[in-house]
Order: sequence, then C-alpha cells, then structure tokens
Amino acid sequence: MNKLIGVDLREVPMKKFDYLRPKSLDEALTLLNQYKKRAKLIAGGTDIIVMIKQKKIAPEVLISLQEIQELKQIHYNGNLRIGPLVTHRMIEKSDLIRKEFSALSDAVDVLGSIQIRNVGTIGGNICTAAPSADTVPPLLVLGAQVKLKSLQGERSLPLDQVFLGPGETVIEDGEILTEIFIPKPLPHTGSAYWKHQRRKALDLPILGVAVLISLDRSTVTCSDLLCTSSPISMVLHALEEEELICKEVRIALGVAAPTPMRATKAENLMRGKKISDELLAEVAEMAAQEARPRDTIRGEAWYRREMVRVLVKRMAMRCIERVLRPEETIFPVRLW
Ligand SMILES: Cc1cc2nc3c(=O)[nH]c(=O)nc-3n(C[C@H](O)[C@H](O)[C@H](O)COP(=O)(O)OP(=O)(O)OC[C@H]3O[C@@H](n4cnc5c(N)ncnc54)[C@H](O)[C@@H]3O)c2cc1C
Repeated sequence: MNKLIGVDLREVPMKKFDYLRPKSLDEALTLLNQYKKRAKLIAGGTDIIVMIKQKKIAPEVLISLQEIQELKQIHYNGNLRIGPLVTHRMIEKSDLIRKEFSALSDAVDVLGSIQIRNVGTIGGNICTAAPSADTVPPLLVLGAQVKLKSLQGERSLPLDQVFLGPGETVIEDGEILTEIFIPKPLPHTGSAYWKHQRRKALDLPILGVAVLISLDRSTVTCSDLLCTSSPISMVLHALEEEELICKEVRIALGVAAPTPMRATKAENLMRGKKISDELLAEVAEMAAQEARPRDTIRGEAWYRREMVRVLVKRMAMRCIERVLRPEETIFPVRLW
C-alpha cells in the first residue's frame, strides 16, 4: 500500500506501452528519433520497469536494446571497452576485469542479487544516474569515458561530466550510450571499491568509496608484513621507510553528494607524495571535508562524512596491498 496517496498501486493498472525490439543500433536510433519523448530505452529493465510500475514515468513506447549484439561485447587490448548492455554478472565473471580493473569487480560483486546482476546492465546503471549507482565510483577512478551516439553523430566525454543531479544526465533525447571506455592503467596500479551497506545483498549503499593508486614500483622489502598480524601502525611505518611514492591517485564517492563525485582536493594532496600513515590520514580527512552528504533514511550526513574518513584510508591501503601482493589473497581480510 502506498500510504502517501492512500492507494494500493498494485490495483492501478500499468499504462500500456508498445515494446519494440530493433535489431541494429541504426534502427534503434531511428526509432528513438521517431518517437522522441514518447519513447524510453530499456536494457535489463531493472530500473525502468520499477519506475513505470511506480507511475513515475509513463512512456508510450519502450525500445529494447537487447537484440543489438554489438552493445553486449567486452574488448580488451590494454584499454578496456565495455558495451552498455554488458550485464553486471558478465563483469563479475571476468577474471581480466578482476585483475586489472579490480574496483569494478568489487562493485558488481555486491550489486543487488545474482538475479539482478544477471539482467541489470552497466549502461543502465550509468543512465539511471542514481547517486547510489554502485558501478559509477569505480568507473570514475578508472578514468572511464562514455560514447554517446545519435542520428546526428557521436561524442565522447569523461564520465565525471555526465551527471547533473539525481536521475539527471547530459545524455540528450535521441542519444544512446554505446560504449564505456577505460584506459590502460599505469604500471603498478591497484584499485578498490567498498560499498558500505547494512545487509550483504539487495541493499543500496549508505556510502560507496572507490580509490585508485599508482605507485612508483611494485616491490618493497616489507611486503610480507601486509599479511601478518602486525599492528597496522607498524605496517605503515615500515612502508614509510621504503619511500614508496604515490604517482597517481583518484578517489570517488557515491551517496556523498547529489551526484557521484571525485574528491579532487584529497587527490591533489596525495599525488607525488611518500606513502605514510600521516599522509593517508590527511587525505581521508580532506575527502571527508569535500563530501556533501545529506541526511536520508539510510544514514545521516555526519555519519556518512565520518565513514568517508574511515573508508578512504581503508581503500587506499587495499589498493597498495593489491599492487604489492597482486597474487596473494590476504586472509583474513585486514580492516585497515
Ligand atoms: C531489487 C533491486 C536491487 C538493486 N540493487 C542495486 C544495487 O545494489 N546497486 C545499484 O547500483 N543498483 C541496484 N539496482 C538498480 C539497477 O539494477 C541497476 O541500476 C541496473 O544496472 C540498471 O540496469 P538495467 O539494464 O536494468 O537498466 P534499465 O532499467 O533497462 O534502464 C535504466 C535507465 O537507463 C536508460 N538506458 C539504459 N541503457 C541505455 C543506453 N545504452 N543508452 C541510453 N540510455 C539507456 C533507460 O532508458 C532507463 O532510463 C537494483 C534494482 C533492483 C530492482
């Protein structure tokens, strides 16, 4: 029962719509141009069907992208190109993505449930533009760009220029997201994402934190310390002695602002510096200051900000772990 309006929405029939299944991208673009605002694209349908059922939107026509095989491919030649119709489950099962673009695997591992991951797509996750979209902070730290196609032509833009507000993007009517491009990471790069949630499945994040770090090298004499029970302060002290330098860093936050965001001031503080406990604490503090969270039913702003401070440091350490011990599973997983 929807208590707000006092009507059981299940008893109000869904408005009828036509369901079109173009076989090619050109056909889809032509249909989109023909129906304009009366039509909506559908990929896996896990967001849009919910919106139709909740009567938030009432398209006359749904244009399915499911028959367009070229949108379902993953290509890798150092750079990674992911079609928007690639499902979360396909990404979860990719050993290559797990190894080279780990933050994205971390995100799909905990997105919805297996049933949702089997049908929900990465393109749909981006285009819905929810502040809580799990794949977006990882894609931001991985430096993703999106390709948008319309009958008028094609444009590419960095993912961080796509989002305007909750549910709002720069994607125009008549445009289809056709590719997500992720450049080859620098050598000695690790990335990680943490979804801070109450349950282990089928929950939206209270906060999402993604970090990517490129180090100046991948060997240190103290790497064994990472998987011993030595106190964390001792591990960080040993790392500081090694003069390990952070060459590149990106930090992205979900549900910390109206759109997924980069913590660029925190990144600037860390880039080019020697890894140390003090530096990580300063960077985490800066990211917490940059966040613009609000109070919601899932968590209050002060709490989210506090968790930015905790999780940025943890994810930075996980990135470093992944560079220095790439083949190892550190068990039990350390709660940096
Ligand atoms: C039970 C449940 C649990 C969920 N849990 C999570 C979760 O934990 N984390 C999370 O991030 N999300 C979650 N979601 C939301 C959803 O599953 C994801 O956002 C999913 O990735 C959406 O993909 P889709 O293919 O189903 O999109 P669709 O519903 O098909 O489309 C979503 C929107 O994107 C547009 N669109 C789709 N493809 C394109 C394209 N190529 N070009 C332009 N526009 C396009 C559509 O027009 C529509 O507006 C959950 C949803 C449900 C129902």
